[in-house]
Amino acid sequence: MIPTDEARQRIVSALSPVSTEVVSLAQACGRVLAEDALARITQPPHDVSAMDGYAVRQADVRTLPATLTQVGEARAGGRYGQPLRPGECVRIFTGGPVPADADTIVIQEHVRAAQEPTGGPRITVPRITVLQAPPPGTHIRRAGQDFRAGEVGLGAGRALSARDVGLAAAMNLPWLRVRRRPRVAIVSTGDELELPGDPLGPNQILASNGLALAAYVGAWGGEPVHLGILRDQPEEFARLAGELAHADLLVTSGGASVGDYDLVRSALGEQGLQVDFWQIAMRPGKPLLFGRLGATPVLGLPGNPVSALVCALLFLRPALERLLGMPGAGQVPTVAALLGRDLPANDAREDFLRATLARDAAGRWLATPFPVQDSAMLSTLARADCLVQRAPQAPAAKAGEAVKVIVL
Ligand code: AMP
Ligand code: MG
Repeated sequence: MIPTDEARQRIVSALSPVSTEVVSLAQACGRVLAEDALARITQPPHDVSAMDGYAVRQADVRTLPATLTQVGEARAGGRYGQPLRPGECVRIFTGGPVPADADTIVIQEHVRAAQEPTGGPRITVPRITVLQAPPPGTHIRRAGQDFRAGEVGLGAGRALSARDVGLAAAMNLPWLRVRRRPRVAIVSTGDELELPGDPLGPNQILASNGLALAAYVGAWGGEPVHLGILRDQPEEFARLAGELAHADLLVTSGGASVGDYDLVRSALGEQGLQVDFWQIAMRPGKPLLFGRLGATPVLGLPGNPVSALVCALLFLRPALERLLGMPGAGQVPTVAALLGRDLPANDAREDFLRATLARDAAGRWLATPFPVQDSAMLSTLARADCLVQRAPQAPAAKAGEAVKVIVL
């Protein structure tokens, strides 16, 4: 049995990133950037106002109140084309370009505006009286304050969020080069399995692993290809070996343990499976297998549903991150919490306990493991908020002690 960290490192280092493709921004959310995305423009392209008000020269508003003549307007999408001269101001709106030689934005709440008559009978000149003025530069968004043309806005290997899509759009990038979705072939093994909705014999159970694994693969940026259920017969595995040409990874569930009907190692072995490792020091999920069948990496997950899905979190997700070229693939993030109940000493296997996560009266996070941790119980996995991670040989722990948890 090898430790979980070593198993993960061996999986990650046996894989390399898949090829790339270009997608339009509308399809980019959730995809992983294959190269740095550089801004094609400077934002803002020039100094603009952050408020509705008046662009003025600081020299004109040192003594208040100050009366200025409004000579024009600058709004988002339109500018005042002349430099501002002494005694002048320009009506400005949010996003409007700041005129040359204006250095101060006075918000309109600090101005009294009046149309004052001048010389001729029908000619009026708008004048304003500035009552309060901020220091120069206030309420001005400087050119390039957000980003400059040529700057790296989003780094290679980043899984794109909705916020990133917004930034890419602002950087004038209508399409992006991303990793193609890794194709993950999924098979379930077992004579006892039937798909939900199919007729169910008296000794049969429902195959839940394949569907849950496919959902995970999709959520983690891959393309699941469900190859169905293999019966526990070597011929079925022989056929599988011929169906993997386009898979970046084969994931099996079940048949990986030591029982007479656990055929993954033996039957795929006959097809040329090279085993890198088999069996890891963890619970749930001891019979994990990793190897290669021809060119296709193979991750053999245990059959027990909780074991299969916990191993997917700990090993399949990092494998996908590596195939997607994400930096830091192989790290499983944990956070600190306080134990919500006493736990007995642990044995030689690292433990991953399903637990709820809730705040106590003092606002601290309490992780409370479910009392029964059977690896066939999907109900507690579905209800769990986190997995409490316990090192091999961890001594007995009391409620209130600090623990590491993996948030689900
Ligand atoms: P195995 O590793 O094949 O011995 O399977 C271990 C346990 O997990 C057995 O009780 C199986 O019936 C069960 N099992 C195997 N595959 C699945 C699956 N796809 N969905 C639900 N349970 C499964
Ligand atoms: Mg089986």
